[in-house]
Amino acid sequence: MIDTPVNLREVGRLRVLEALHTAARSSRPELVRVTGLSRATVSSLIADLIAVGLVTEDEGPEEPEPRRTGRPAQSLSLVPGAGYAVGADIGHQHVRVILCDLFGAVLWEHWVAKDVDRAPEETLDLVAVLVGRALRETGVVRERVLGIGAGIASPVEKGSGALGAEGIMPGWVGLRLTDELRRRTSLPARVTNDANAGALAERMYGAGRRAADMVYVRLSAGIGAGIVSRGRLLLGARGLAGEIGHLPLVADGLICRCGNRGCLETVASPVAIARLLSDSWGERVTARDLPALVRRRDPGALRAVRDAGDAVGRALSTLVTLLNPALIVVGGDLAVAGDDILEPIRAGVRRHTLPSAAAGVEIVTGGLGDGAEVRGAAGLVLADAPQLLFSATQGGEAAEPA
Ligand SMILES: [Zn+2]
Repeated sequence: MIDTPVNLREVGRLRVLEALHTAARSSRPELVRVTGLSRATVSSLIADLIAVGLVTEDEGPEEPEPRRTGRPAQSLSLVPGAGYAVGADIGHQHVRVILCDLFGAVLWEHWVAKDVDRAPEETLDLVAVLVGRALRETGVVRERVLGIGAGIASPVEKGSGALGAEGIMPGWVGLRLTDELRRRTSLPARVTNDANAGALAERMYGAGRRAADMVYVRLSAGIGAGIVSRGRLLLGARGLAGEIGHLPLVADGLICRCGNRGCLETVASPVAIARLLSDSWGERVTARDLPALVRRRDPGALRAVRDAGDAVGRALSTLVTLLNPALIVVGGDLAVAGDDILEPIRAGVRRHTLPSAAAGVEIVTGGLGDGAEVRGAAGLVLADAPQLLFSATQGGEAAEPA
């Protein structure tokens, strides 16, 4: 899909775009250093990129030589509106769509409550309608949108985008979400599961900005992990890496929706906690009641949340042993419990992991709250912004300044 550069000037153009995307702001001498291109080439490429509206230069002097006063002025940056991305978060009971600029700043956002699991067609039509509204209300033209990224509460196969939604989202099994979104929105589409989307967002914009090796664990109706290794999402052979909700925790536990027995999800999801409290109290408690119960410091709810944290900690100790991450970011519905869930997770990891590996991993709640999944969905597109902008300009599209 992405064009291969055919000559050295094109290679240089892509390298300059990549350097500006990574650094956010830079200078000509800095670009010479980072790209290994000559000063003359960098100057000429920058002039081209300014002319087509992809790069902007601030007013004010730029030091001509880096040696004169130390660091040169950082006056060059990508134009935030040179390209946009749409993010769509498709949960079990909601659809959330955002439109972002090149740096992930949210320009438009809309959230709709929807019974998603049995209504794939209606849900996808709704996403397309919201994309249309986002463009109309912001005045962004479709040709400037680099793509739509979607995060969905289901395992997603790498490449085909086929959903492995058995027992999870009954109406969606086998659907090729990438094709469906492309057809409905006329935009290039990328799809991943919601935990991977959350991981990408926390890595790009949230608590994981300085951690190239991190795990994002999403504690909601489904429990899953997004793994970032050396700065990139680790997907595995078919895109199913990180499904920790189905690690076996209890030898003769409850039957899980996946068909196995005693999975982490059967003891540590908000649904499992609510079921435990319902059985014990003899009255109906739902997952939605948990945040209020924790705020009220209800002893039974706190005990159930802490036990869930202990189970999550044991499961995460396996990930820490296998992957040696520097950071674990806890997100999803249970993250609102704060230290009441974090402390038992930390203790569980300490108790079941090699001391040096446990000591090297920081465990925190996410920096983006419930916006992580939708920001990361757009991030699926924006992570490759330099290549996509490069391809667009090669094709003669999407480059003229507004
Ligand atoms: Zn399971």
